Amino acid sequence: MDLQKEIIQEMEALLGRHSIADLDFEAVEMAARRQALRLAARALQQRLNDDTSDYVGPELPCSCGSTAQYRGRHQKTFESVLGPLQLNRAYYYDEHCQSGFCPRDQALGLDSFSLTPGVLRMTASTAALVSFEESRELLHDLAGVEVSTKQVERAAKALGAEIAGEEQQQVDGTGELAPTAPTMDLGMDGTGVPMRAQEVADRIGKQADGSAKTREAKLVTIGTAEARDKEGKPVRDAGSITYSAAMESAATLDTSHELSEFAARVQREAQRRSFHEAQRQVVLGDGSPWIWNTASELFPQATQILDRFHAKEHLGELGKTIYGDSSDAGVWIQARCDLRAACNRWCTRSMTTRTNTHKPGNVSATFGRTDAACLIPSSTNKVSVRPRGWWSRVAKLWSALD
Ligand SMILES: [Zn+2]
Repeated sequence: MDLQKEIIQEMEALLGRHSIADLDFEAVEMAARRQALRLAARALQQRLNDDTSDYVGPELPCSCGSTAQYRGRHQKTFESVLGPLQLNRAYYYDEHCQSGFCPRDQALGLDSFSLTPGVLRMTASTAALVSFEESRELLHDLAGVEVSTKQVERAAKALGAEIAGEEQQQVDGTGELAPTAPTMDLGMDGTGVPMRAQEVADRIGKQADGSAKTREAKLVTIGTAEARDKEGKPVRDAGSITYSAAMESAATLDTSHELSEFAARVQREAQRRSFHEAQRQVVLGDGSPWIWNTASELFPQATQILDRFHAKEHLGELGKTIYGDSSDAGVWIQARCDLRAACNRWCTRSMTTRTNTHKPGNVSATFGRTDAACLIPSSTNKVSVRPRGWWSRVAKLWSALD
């Protein structure tokens, strides 16, 4: 009986003689998928096990340089997109290095944690987004695939190491990708990633007792935004952006000749994208000193732009520091945000002629000296009560803006 007929028969058995209106549709569709996949898995398993062409003689060269002997066909269960597959494969064992291998596993990409390539891809997709445990649940619920939490963890770690290795290798003398637009922008950012307790056991963090719950992942993005929306605002060019991220430090000693780990990553990504060759180069950041320091060290010719979200956030903090909770704060902040928006428009227009030749971390070069001066509170005499440390906080916020 062919697969199609068998599936139709299973459907009939599932539906039985019930009226369609009374069906528990979810139960039926889930059961139907399970049955159809089970039948397909059985057909595939049989086809693969009937084929013994992976036996290629009593001996095979081993990767260690020695020779491995044929030791019969070995059975192993793999989790596939269709469910479990029990596969019999020719097995070769090398006495010299005391390890064995199956040529078929290598040929079909089955040598990763008993997962088939399809399930490995699903696992990588979920593990990149949620925890290992949540990945296991999602794979079960969405794909009907059974992968243990430990398998998710091992697969994610191995793939991560592989990606990291490739990222390090893929840079030679010339950029792999030519600049795709006249202006390229390079953004850097960092964010705290929640960690399992054992991963941060010996780290100092921001918790009250000095412990850490997160580690900072740093990200570099490179892309272009030549396209405009209906209102003429720049929008990200589809497919133009690339990302590279890691939990790496951006700090080095002033006396060190080596780049920090993260700065080296930024440089590799810039090299890969030929960022240096773009007519105009822009570095975007949230105002953190490490971003401007890294940018000034690697791309002194680039224009540094504080992103609008953080500019507004810093202005908001500054307004509240000066005026407290009074309504004056809102008025002052709004006026500065409006001004900043105007500066942004002006800045976008005039960027062709303006590049940052000022001191490291100087964002005002982008906005222009006079614009920066406009941001100084013009009516400081209104501030009647200044809390202790007021000016140092203003100065700190100001330095984040400037
Ligand atoms: Zn060997």
